[in-house]
Amino acid sequence: AQDQVIRSEKLSIAGELAAGIAHEIRNPITAIKGFLKLIEVTEDKNKKFLHIISEEIEKIAQISSEFLILSKPHVENKKEINVVDLIVSVQLLLEPQAVKKNIGIQLEYEYCDILITCDDMKIKQVLINLIKNSIEAMEKGFIKVTARDLTDHVHIYVADEGPGIPKEILDNLGQPFFTTKEEGTGLGLLICEKIIEDHNGKIIIESEMGKGTIVILRIPKGQI
Ligand code: ADP
Ligand code: MG
Repeated sequence: AQDQVIRSEKLSIAGELAAGIAHEIRNPITAIKGFLKLIEVTEDKNKKFLHIISEEIEKIAQISSEFLILSKPHVENKKEINVVDLIVSVQLLLEPQAVKKNIGIQLEYEYCDILITCDDMKIKQVLINLIKNSIEAMEKGFIKVTARDLTDHVHIYVADEGPGIPKEILDNLGQPFFTTKEEGTGLGLLICEKIIEDHNGKIIIESEMGKGTIVILRIPKGQI
């Protein structure tokens, strides 16, 4: 059976204070990472602990940079762009990560212009988060990214051949810090939802166990 979750509720997200904290956390982390590198080359008997420290710091860095995206105010830099170009650039960016796992990223359309007015960097972030989730979920296979031009909306589909998302997990998606991954932050989908909401759009997640997951972005073409 197919499960579907439509995300449109207003998200309550911490504001400027959160952004400030996230920003302030990043500076000391950068310093710590630098000194760790130094110790790593000089000391060797406790290296495994250094490795753990590095990983944990990396996680803090990841959370604070995602938190920073989340706590930024609404979309500021809107301009008219071709969605197809955006998808191609994300494909190029993530290709190396996909190839490492024997995963292909396929773009399913003839090259064309599908213009929307949006904050292109933010929509790019959404596509990166979604395709990364697919790569992380899959052992091998294909991820298909499709763009459809509707009269006043654009639909973007990210479909994978991963294991699918169980119903109980599907219900929890988009909750802050909800993750099933050892190294996950559980902020990726929340960021996607915030960005798409800021564009007055919708995210629909459809998943079938054993078959895969399709995330559909429905974004109004908008105007400046
Ligand atoms: P993170 O990737 O850091 O775990 P996300 O918010 O991006 O955080 O995703 C939350 C959870 O949703 C993941 O931990 C995973 O369990 C599930 N998930 C998201 N996308 C997929 C997918 N394409 N296939 C299977 N599970 C997924
Ligand atoms: Mg993720």
